Amino acid sequence: MPIRVLPADVADKIAAGEVIERPASVAKELAENSIDAGASDIQVTIREGGHRLIRVVDNGCGIPEDELELALARHATSKLTTVSDLEAIRTLGFRGEALTSIAAVSQMTMTSRPRSQPVGRSLRIDGGQVTRREGRGAPAGTSVSVENLFHNVPARRKFLRQPSTEAGHIHRVVVQYAMAYPGIRFRLEMDGRLAFQSSGSGELRDVLVAVYGLEMAEQMVPIGAGAGAEPAAGEIHVSGFAGQPSLHRANRDYITLFVNQRWIQDRSLSHAVAQAYHTLLPVGRHPVAVVQIQMDPAQVDVNVHPTKREVRFRDGHRVFAAVQRAVRASLLEQASLPGALPAGSRDWPGAARWGAVQAIGRAEAQIALDLYRPGELEPVGPVRLPLLRVVGQIGQTYIVAEGPQGMYLIDQHAAHERVLYEQLTAQTAEGKVASQALLEPSALELLPSQAAVLEERLEGFRAAGFELEAFGGSTYLLRAVPAILARAEPSQAVVDIVDDLQESPTMRTPVEEAGEAELIAAICKRAAVKAGQILSQPEMQELVRGLEQCASPRTCPHGRPTVVHFSAEQLEREFLRR
Ligand code: ADP
Ligand code: MG
Repeated sequence: MPIRVLPADVADKIAAGEVIERPASVAKELAENSIDAGASDIQVTIREGGHRLIRVVDNGCGIPEDELELALARHATSKLTTVSDLEAIRTLGFRGEALTSIAAVSQMTMTSRPRSQPVGRSLRIDGGQVTRREGRGAPAGTSVSVENLFHNVPARRKFLRQPSTEAGHIHRVVVQYAMAYPGIRFRLEMDGRLAFQSSGSGELRDVLVAVYGLEMAEQMVPIGAGAGAEPAAGEIHVSGFAGQPSLHRANRDYITLFVNQRWIQDRSLSHAVAQAYHTLLPVGRHPVAVVQIQMDPAQVDVNVHPTKREVRFRDGHRVFAAVQRAVRASLLEQASLPGALPAGSRDWPGAARWGAVQAIGRAEAQIALDLYRPGELEPVGPVRLPLLRVVGQIGQTYIVAEGPQGMYLIDQHAAHERVLYEQLTAQTAEGKVASQALLEPSALELLPSQAAVLEERLEGFRAAGFELEAFGGSTYLLRAVPAILARAEPSQAVVDIVDDLQESPTMRTPVEEAGEAELIAAICKRAAVKAGQILSQPEMQELVRGLEQCASPRTCPHGRPTVVHFSAEQLEREFLRR
C-alpha cells in the first residue's frame, strides 16, 4: 500500500488509545482537569465499571462559553503557552489532549459555567463530532459525562475487563488523588452505591482512614515535618505516612508515591521506601506507605510518558536518598520497633529475631555462593533429578544434598513451590483438591480493587479448594481453604494471593488466557516453606523426595531455579585436586 497521511478521525483514535487505555484513564484525566481547575469538591459517578458511564462533576473555575469548543481541540490547553513552560510544569495536565482523545472514542456531554457567567453552556459530542450545543442552567463548575466508551473502537472494547475489574481501577485512581489532595472532597459512586468518600479536611490522616480503615491508619506514623511551605530552590520535602513494621503486605502496591501531588510509579523510589525498612520486615514482605515529595518542578520532567505516570528526575540519587532518609528517620523515631512492641499490636511472633535471621541467612548464603563464581554454576544436567541424599540446611534457606554427580544446593522455598504447584495442578485438573474447612468462617474485608480480582477469579478459587461466598459490598466469607494452606493464616493468605494476582502482568490480558496456572502459582507461593525457616531432617527429605518426583523440578512456577548443581569435577578443580 502507498504511504498516506491517516485521516484525522483514524489518527485521533490511535492517539486516544495511548492516553485512554481503559475507563480508569478517563476518570484520571477528568479528575486531573477538575483539580487543575481549583475545585474543592469532585464527584465521580460510574455505571458498569465505567463502560456505560463515567461522570465527573467539579466546582472549579469552569470554562467560558466561547472557549468550550476549543477545549475539545487537540493540543488546546490553558496550562502552557511556551516551550519553556514545559520545563517547570505545575499543573497535572499540559498536553491539551485528554478531552479530544476521550471525545473521539465515546459519547460525551460537557457542561460548564464559570462563576461570572449567568448560564452554563453544554455540548454533546459523538465520536469526536459536536452534535448539539445549548445554553443550560448549571451550577458553577464543570460536569463531563462520558458514555459508551470505545463504542466505535471494537479493538479497544475487546480488551476491557469485567466491570468489577474496571471499577476497581477507577476506585484506585480516585483514592490516589484523594490522598494527594486531602484538601479536596472526593466522592465516588458506583452503580448507585457510595464507594468512597473523603472529607476534604486537609488532613492526610483522615484520608488514610477513609482508604484503609481506622485499624490500618492507626498503625501509620507521619513522615517528615508535614507538607508545609513550598520547598526553597534545591530543597526536597518528603512528607506523608509510613506503616509500622508490624504492618506489611505481599507486594509493593501499598507504597504510594506522589511528586508535587502527582501520583507516580517509580521502581527506584518504591525501592527507596522498601530500603528504609531494611531488616525491619519479614523476608518477602513489603511496607505500607504514602510518600509525598515536594520539589522544584524544574527538577522533574513529567513529559515522559503519554499517561504521565512516569517522571524523570534531574538528580534521581538525591531524591532516592531524601525519601529513604525521611522514611527511615520517622520509623526510628516513632515506630514501635520489634522488641518493644506495644501490647495488643498485631505483630508476628519473634519479630526481633527476624532481622537477625535474615541477616545471618543472607551472609551464609553469600559465603556459600561466593566460593563458586557465577559462571561456574551449572544447571542440573538431566531434566529429572537423580536420587539425592540430604546432607543438611544452610542459612535456613538452602538444603545441601549429595547425588551421583556431585553436590546439589536446593532453594527450599522455590523447591517447595514447585512440588506443591505440580500437586495442586494435578488435583485441580482431576477436580480432587484436598480442601480444609475453617472451624469458623472468616469475614474478608477487601478493597474494591481486590474484590474485583477475587470476583473475576471466583471459579478458579473454588476449583483450587477455596470455599468463598460474597457477603455484600467487598466482603466475602471464607469457609474453607486448600489443605496445603492449612498452616497459613487463612484470610491473610487469600488477601496475599489476590494482591499477587493484581500485580501480575496478565491482569492486562483477557482472563481466559491467563488461565488457572497463575492462581495456582500464587497459592503455592503462600503455602510453601519460607526462607529463614528451620527444617528438620525428615522435612528436608520429604521435600527433596517431592522434588525428585516433579516433571519439571529445576525451576519454581515463577521460573527461578530450584537447584544449583556443583559437579564432582568442579569441586576437584576448586580444591586444585586436578
Ligand atoms: P490539558 O488538561 O492537558 O490542558 P485537556 O484536554 O484535559 O488538556 O483540557 C483542555 C482544556 O480544557 C484545559 O486546559 C482547561 O482549560 C479546560 N478544562 C478541561 N476540563 C476542565 C474543568 N473541569 N474545569 C475547567 N477547565 C477545564
Ligand atoms: Mg487534562
